[in-house]
Formats: sequence, structure tokens, C-alpha cells
Amino acid sequence: MPGDREAGNSVTPSGLLAIFAHPDDESFGAGGVMALAAAAGNPVWVLCATNGDQGGKPGEVGVDHSLDPEIRREELACACRELGVSEPIFLGYRDSGMEGWGAPEGSLSLADKQEVVERILAVIRRLHPAVIVTFDPGGVYGHPDHTACSDTATAAYRVAAAEPGGPVALYHQALPRSTVAGMQAMQEAERRRGDDKPPTEDDIRQAEAFIKLARPDEEITTVVPILSVAERKIAALACHDSQMRGRRWDDPEERAQMEQMFGRETFVRVDPAPQPGEREDRFMGLKWADS
Ligand SMILES: [Zn+2]
Repeated sequence: MPGDREAGNSVTPSGLLAIFAHPDDESFGAGGVMALAAAAGNPVWVLCATNGDQGGKPGEVGVDHSLDPEIRREELACACRELGVSEPIFLGYRDSGMEGWGAPEGSLSLADKQEVVERILAVIRRLHPAVIVTFDPGGVYGHPDHTACSDTATAAYRVAAAEPGGPVALYHQALPRSTVAGMQAMQEAERRRGDDKPPTEDDIRQAEAFIKLARPDEEITTVVPILSVAERKIAALACHDSQMRGRRWDDPEERAQMEQMFGRETFVRVDPAPQPGEREDRFMGLKWADS
């Protein structure tokens, strides 16, 4: 409640705030965890830093990638409904586009870092989440908005966690090398079947970045089984129609592959720092259905 802090009242933080860069990042990286947390009765919010307005015509270099921001904002609202979480909150920065495209004015990667941290902090102080999840510092594949989002959300968490009623845990969404190897084998198989377009320059650069920035498996602290909500995650991903590059959700083989890939989500617990070798299968600080 506004004013609680000033009045010295203690606020008990609760729920999960997912802070990502573009509409669709939330569903790919943490859609299962969000759906599980919401189903167990935790409040769950998505804070999206950009409008994803450079998400058009994936893979083509030297063309206009701009997309009506309303399209992607609506896609994210659709995904939130499928995941059973609150309406999305936007910071409204412009999408920086992929590396080498030239970030437009007003984009997240060009924004003043302190300003972004302050704006994220304001949301944390208003919602009082117990747990925050954002990107790994490498941003999974190094997208400039992903790394900016990880940096600023992590900095905002550090400030908020030291305040009364502040969050108690921070997770970074990260892919282990074994998952990336599996993803790339799946793409390669699609290509061999001849039903996928040949990779563009951006695709190749992205695939290399995925491998380079994947975490060694032993650094992953938190592996959450999400098969029970895989349908919700797939439905949320299907909302992001402008980004799906012709995935066929009605194809049984493709669906089976997706379900296999989406059987778990992987994270590194940043705070509280894990003990050496500590592993967990859920986020701390939230209610879970079977506990
Ligand atoms: Zn993204």
C-alpha cells in the first residue's frame, strides 16, 4: 500500500515478478514457472521493458524490422491470460533490435541505466513481490535488450532487497549447455526434413551466441518440472504469433518435440546465494501446489 513504508508498517512481500525485455521472452523462459506459481495462488506479474517493436520480419538484415507496438503488447496480454497471471506492465522503451541492426532512439539499450533501474524499482516498491526472475547476464543469446534488462533488473533487486518489505529471492533464467545442444539438434533435424527455410545470417549468429552464452550444466541451481502446465506454456507461446516463424502448433510431431523441450525450466538462484552443490526444483519464497 502506498505510504506503508513511510508509516513504518511492515509489508510482507508475496508473489513473483518476471522482468523481461520483449513480449515472448517471459513465455519462453519462465512461462511454466509463472503458470505454476499462479495456479498455486501466488500473485504473478510480468514487467516488459520494451514494446518489442523491432520484431518484424525475423532474420532479414538490411530491411525495416519495425512492427506496430500494439501488436506485440496485445500478444503479451494474450499470453498472460493463458498463463493465468496479471495484465502485463510495460516500461515502453523501444526494442533495440538485434546486434548490428542499429538501435533506434528511445530504445532500451540506449536508455540511461539509472533511469531504467529507478523505473523498475518503482514497480517493485508498488507490488512488493517476494521473488524476482529476469535474464541471465548473457541474456540467453546476447540480445542487447536482454543484457540491459538483466543488468537493470538485478541492480533494482539489490536496492529493493535491502528495504523493508523488499523481495527475498532473485533468479536468473539461464539455459544449460545440454538444453542448447538439444534445441540445435531439433532445428538441424527440421532443416534436414527440408521443411524449414535455410538459416539466415542472423540465425547463424544467434545459434553461435546461444552456444557461447549457455551455462555449464553444473551452474544451474534450479530445475523446475513444468510438464503439468506445458499446455499453458504452449498456448502462451502461440499468442506471440508475430514471432513464431511458422511453427505448426497443430502438427503432432512438432507438438511432441515442444512438450519434450518444455518439460522443465532452468534457472540460477542469484540471491540468496546457493550453498556449493545446492539444487532445488522450485523457487523459494512462493507457495507451491504440493507443499
Ligand atoms: Zn527478447
